Amino acid sequence: MPERIRAYLNARGLPDAVIDRHLLGWTGKRISIPIPDATGKISLFKLAKDPEDESTSPKMLASPRSHAALYGWEVLEKEPDRVVICEGEFDRLVLEAQGFSAVTSTGGALTFRPEWAPFLAVIPEVLICLDNDAVGRLGSARISRLVPTAKVVTLPEEVGEGGDVTDFFVWLGKTAEDFERLLEEASELSLPPKQIPVRRPPSIESELQDRVARAKRSVRIEDVIGRYVELQVSGSTLRGACPFHNEEHPSLVVFPATQTFHCFGCGEGGDVIAFLRRKLQLSFAQALEALERFLPSDEREAA
Ligand code: ZN
Repeated sequence: MPERIRAYLNARGLPDAVIDRHLLGWTGKRISIPIPDATGKISLFKLAKDPEDESTSPKMLASPRSHAALYGWEVLEKEPDRVVICEGEFDRLVLEAQGFSAVTSTGGALTFRPEWAPFLAVIPEVLICLDNDAVGRLGSARISRLVPTAKVVTLPEEVGEGGDVTDFFVWLGKTAEDFERLLEEASELSLPPKQIPVRRPPSIESELQDRVARAKRSVRIEDVIGRYVELQVSGSTLRGACPFHNEEHPSLVVFPATQTFHCFGCGEGGDVIAFLRRKLQLSFAQALEALERFLPSDEREAA
């Protein structure tokens, strides 16, 4: 990494130790930020604009172009007592430099994915600190619905419209103690907790919902996907080659805890029914029937 780039990162709140620990690099045109997935493998880079590039080229690019990922799985792995959800890779690293465990979505304020929620819900204290603008507030409300125990941190007005964590620490010169005080003042949004909407055809009646609930209770998603894909245990998840896109390295991850799957390559994901629908090209009702064929035979009679 050229000295001027390192100096730029230092000036925006990233000391050398953080730059090196997170393997920030330089492509010759952009600053590269490797984003490890839940298993520690890096298949995604965020690419920040050269500070001297005055063109209209975007401030941040993703390579390869992909869906949003969570930046900070290794933070969650350490089972911290507290974590801050912030907006942007640099903000996450600025928080870490100040001594705060933090994670972010690589896709902006509005792309917090429901399948991440269970991993955050187990952390005693979750604080949301997105940018001080309309999108940030919308994102905070969205995350609050998915992680109902999370509290929302309000940055002081002096960060200005669109101000963020970096503005707070770097441009306003605030300290970790100042941020600690903001965290203490954080409060839960008074939103009615809303269930994550489940996409279902509108004609599906409650009888069908009961069948879905029963089948999903009795059949493990890893057993169903394991029928089609060779899965390897990887920490608390399983991993295999995605059947929905061509790939060399397995990027399909099955989450037994939430009974969901997600492909970090093509973005395909959802519950066991979503998997069967996509894999076998089935309607919702056909996928439910296919799922029920995995039930033990006595339960199948009852179904
Ligand atoms: Zn895929």
